[in-house]
Amino acid sequence: MGVQHVNSLALVTGGASGIGYAISQKLAERGFNVAIGDLKNYEESAENLKKLGLPVVGLPLDVTSWDSCAQFVEASLSHFRTDHVDVLVNNAGIIRDSLFVKMSREDWDLVIRVHLYGAFNMTKQVVESMISKQHGRIVNMSSLSWTGNVGQANYASAKAGLIGFTKTLAKELGRYNITVNAIAPGFIDTPMTRSVPDKIREKFMERLAIRRIGDPVDVANLVAFLASDEASYITGEVIGVTGGLTF
Ligand code: NAP
Repeated sequence: MGVQHVNSLALVTGGASGIGYAISQKLAERGFNVAIGDLKNYEESAENLKKLGLPVVGLPLDVTSWDSCAQFVEASLSHFRTDHVDVLVNNAGIIRDSLFVKMSREDWDLVIRVHLYGAFNMTKQVVESMISKQHGRIVNMSSLSWTGNVGQANYASAKAGLIGFTKTLAKELGRYNITVNAIAPGFIDTPMTRSVPDKIREKFMERLAIRRIGDPVDVANLVAFLASDEASYITGEVIGVTGGLTF
């Protein structure tokens, strides 16, 4: 692939940790200028990548806040001295799992706000500049959980909502050469999944066709492809990175 995206800007939400960090590294290795936005650890994560010689900046971001998203985008554009975002990866996420009968209104609300309002708030900030450039790539991080998973009524609803969002934007924005796709990872080894009890991990292992837990880079490789020129005719898709996992 080589360095083919020099001076193109990619924004990665939740980029300080797990899958988002791997995406930030991969896109920067492919030549993108990358702005990592996250609630915390954004500076040290960016520093780690800068030590590898990669063009990365870490900035504060709370995707649930419209103003924070606006500030993040403005600071990213100004840092890299450009007026245009080429790639947006809506990756920030949280889980607040419990059976529905025990699920609090707060845990419902927060999960919906981070995933759905987060994607809305961020995409609204960049879409007009993508339209005026007649080019853009939007990647939304859904999850295999969108198909329904015990203990995740809030998360599954949010991740299924992101798929409706993806497919609608793909139809609306395709005429401007903006592609919009969703990725549905299965079980990936990140801080989010490290708290999963061993018993449940073992159950996941039994359901995997490829007998290993996914690595964040497995997801980052797909994002790098979707962000590239080679993927210009792929839009409105939901692509699994699951190792063959089924629930
Ligand atoms: P992670 O390591 O916890 O990373 C998620 C990052 O998003 C964290 O740094 C988190 O910050 C940040 N974040 C949370 N709320 C935010 C907000 N309001 N504004 C900005 N950033 C926020 O988890 P991950 O596994 O890499 O997950 C990345 C994405 O993949 C998520 O959307 C997740 O739902 C999805 N996914 C993960 C898996 C998996 O198996 N790991 C499977 C399917 C889908 P804090 O740490 O401070 O909360």
